[in-house]
Amino acid sequence: MADAALTIIGGGAVGLALAAELSRRHGPLYLLERNPRYGQETSSRNSEVIHAGIYYPHGSLKAKLCVEGNRLLYGLCGRHGIPHRRITKVITATRASELSELHRLHELGSGNGVTLRMVTAGEVHEMEPEIVSVGGLFSPDTGIISAHGLMDYYYRSALEQGAVIQTHCTVVGVERRTGDYRITVSESGNLSTITSERVINAAGLESDTIASLAGIDPDREGYRLHYSRGCYFALPPRLSGCVSRLVYPVPTSETLGVHAVVDLGGRLKFGPDIEYQDDRVQDYRVDEKKRGAFGASVRRILPHVRDEDLTPDMSGIRPKLQGPGEPPRDFLIREESRRGLPGFINLVGIDSPGLTASAAIAKYVGGML
Ligand SMILES: Cc1cc2nc3c(=O)[nH]c(=O)nc-3n(C[C@H](O)[C@H](O)[C@H](O)COP(=O)(O)OP(=O)(O)OC[C@H]3O[C@@H](n4cnc5c(N)ncnc54)[C@H](O)[C@@H]3O)c2cc1C
Repeated sequence: MADAALTIIGGGAVGLALAAELSRRHGPLYLLERNPRYGQETSSRNSEVIHAGIYYPHGSLKAKLCVEGNRLLYGLCGRHGIPHRRITKVITATRASELSELHRLHELGSGNGVTLRMVTAGEVHEMEPEIVSVGGLFSPDTGIISAHGLMDYYYRSALEQGAVIQTHCTVVGVERRTGDYRITVSESGNLSTITSERVINAAGLESDTIASLAGIDPDREGYRLHYSRGCYFALPPRLSGCVSRLVYPVPTSETLGVHAVVDLGGRLKFGPDIEYQDDRVQDYRVDEKKRGAFGASVRRILPHVRDEDLTPDMSGIRPKLQGPGEPPRDFLIREESRRGLPGFINLVGIDSPGLTASAAIAKYVGGML
């Protein structure tokens, strides 16, 4: 008999959502997390936006799981008191040439099942008097959430259902045996093993490494991750009231663009930018030298913001399947029987909107099991 029916590697929002969803039906369930606490990596270094699902191609997992995740998250927040606000969002065109892209997004998002409304420059100015706009796209279902509040809820609910959540546990080996997997874990340098009938790899920035420990060649199979850092700069409290909702520029092919993010405490920050890293070090410092570039991006939307109003804030790292200049890739969520690993499920490239989609990803993976 294996020690566990199911083992989840990684205690970010996705791993915890999986534990909350699956611990009732698939016990004994273990979740292994390398840090001293859950949710210390990408899941606590993001915009905390509940996305509506506007930007993703029809039929993609990102579109499906974001739209469903949005609905599930508001339901969970309402029922369990998770801090959130349905603050709404406007994507603003700052020049006439961007209006056609807004129409394209309107069509794309509506096709994904998102409620959206094209708004005139006058309507945008009524909503947000200080922003530059020649027209906008309004999303009533975009909101903000406390990522920690959400993860605390998933954590409690998994524990109540009997999940065993072990921190300080770095998975360093995964071996397929007849009928189960043998997982080797390092705790402060001491090695131990557990056996598990099934395994889910939700290791975020290391999900390609975990896949390769299980015997998958990440380069050949297209699982290799690229680290793409996103930094934020904040405005001081006296200027934070200049917008009252999330304000985004018209996106480029690589990013949603540096946008105005209002948090639950009323702080206003701008970001994230995008910078691919050559190495795989988790370096979260925000380089002051970026201030000028941030100032220029912000002034496209809010012309009165000066470079000196902006202070370096936080950063996060996106685990991207595509490299610089390559077309966007979808979430990779795969049961690996075809690669000789029955009952092994990889979740790789869970970048944005992974926080929004977390509960929907957990249901989707539950269906695969
Ligand atoms: C700048 C930025 C802004 C974003 N904004 C948004 C947003 O507004 N809305 C949204 O929906 N999404 C957003 N995202 C995306 C979202 O944050 C992620 O999709 C989501 O947090 C991914 O969660 P995860 O659990 O897959 O990964 P993580 O949070 O990275 O969790 C993975 C866990 O696995 C653990 N781990 C790794 N290797 C091992 C190992 N060998 N053994 C044990 N444990 C291991 C790590 O310690 C980590 O805790 C943003 C991301 C970034 C970077």
